[in-house]
Amino acid sequence: MDKILLLAHTQDDGSLPKAAYESLNAAVTLAADLGGAALTVGLIGGDVQAAADSLAACGASHILSVTGEDFALSRYASDTVAVEALVKEATPTLVLAPSSSRFSRCLPGAAYRCDGRIETHITAIKVVDGAVQVQRWYYRQRMVATLSRVQRPWFLVIDSGVYEPWQGAAGSADVQTLEVAIGGDLRRTRVIGVQTPGSDAQTIRPEAKLLFVAGAGWAKKQTDGQLHIKQAEKLILDFINSSKASLGSSKSLVDQSSEGEVISFMSHLNQVGQTGSTPRHPKGLATCCHGEEPHTVGWRFINERRAISLDPNCGWAQGKADVLYVADAFKVIAKMNELLAND
Ligand SMILES: Cc1cc2nc3c(=O)[nH]c(=O)nc-3n(C[C@H](O)[C@H](O)[C@H](O)COP(=O)(O)OP(=O)(O)OC[C@H]3O[C@@H](n4cnc5c(N)ncnc54)[C@H](O)[C@@H]3O)c2cc1C
Repeated sequence: MDKILLLAHTQDDGSLPKAAYESLNAAVTLAADLGGAALTVGLIGGDVQAAADSLAACGASHILSVTGEDFALSRYASDTVAVEALVKEATPTLVLAPSSSRFSRCLPGAAYRCDGRIETHITAIKVVDGAVQVQRWYYRQRMVATLSRVQRPWFLVIDSGVYEPWQGAAGSADVQTLEVAIGGDLRRTRVIGVQTPGSDAQTIRPEAKLLFVAGAGWAKKQTDGQLHIKQAEKLILDFINSSKASLGSSKSLVDQSSEGEVISFMSHLNQVGQTGSTPRHPKGLATCCHGEEPHTVGWRFINERRAISLDPNCGWAQGKADVLYVADAFKVIAKMNELLAND
């Protein structure tokens, strides 16, 4: 009989990230699909009691933890030791965890130490004839594969946005804390501060309902034969700040950063597509973008797609957008900003 361990780590304020509840939902669903597999939750953090209380009703038979100052912050050396201790205690066949940067760093090493195997970027888990199968994408989301393995424990790191977050009443959780000793050499890495960009420069917002994509057209000569880069910058920034959308870009626009006058806040981190990211948002709006395949392949997980382009024969018109507005994006976005300002 399979035994499932759901791993989660707390955030700075002691709460769990949304992705942890999504993975918990995956674990609870998988336990039921396996005919009632035992579920254990393993929490890592400075103090995890509030996090444990928030999922007290999830049906886990045990809630284990590795806590204390040494485990409050992300650090490969201590996180791997913590995961190893949780796995030794719970003896799971399947270990599920959210795809956070902290877990992405430490889980491959932890899986190796536990003589397990690991799959990352999981987008689906199902049980077929009693056997667990997982799904993930390869080659920049062009090929989807269904995998199974015989090696246990099997670590499954689940992409965010795949499952709905688990919801249930908070309660008073009984947490079993494991004693995990950390030698001085494991404390060599210390976090001495966090540097983040200013809030107006923070244009990538994974939780946003809307992905707003700016294409190279914003930096091209317009009908008056002139470039309007500063105007484009203002229109785009005003729009994403008032709509709280996440900013994506085509490759052509971000590549211009090495040439002349460019959209100043755009970087390769914004690039969506085959050689860029594959974000997950319920809706997407592309502007001044042609909609070529290497770009739109990055829209695979955007549910509702709209585009504004001057070209009625652009790629979006070839079945890649649900709605194509053949219009001047400078005018449309200016009007939308006006409406949003009055909202
Ligand atoms: C191996 C490989 C990998 C690639 N990977 C990626 C990738 O990851 N992501 C990616 O994006 N691309 C990628 N590309 C490039 C991709 O093929 C396209 O070249 C790129 O997406 C084009 O960007 P664009 O649509 O913004 O620019 P353009 O093709 O120049 O299109 C600009 C559009 O803006 C419109 N326009 C201009 N002014 C206005 C206006 N005022 N209002 C409305 N519309 C206007 C024009 O009509 C035009 O349709 C890759 C290519 C290769 C070969």
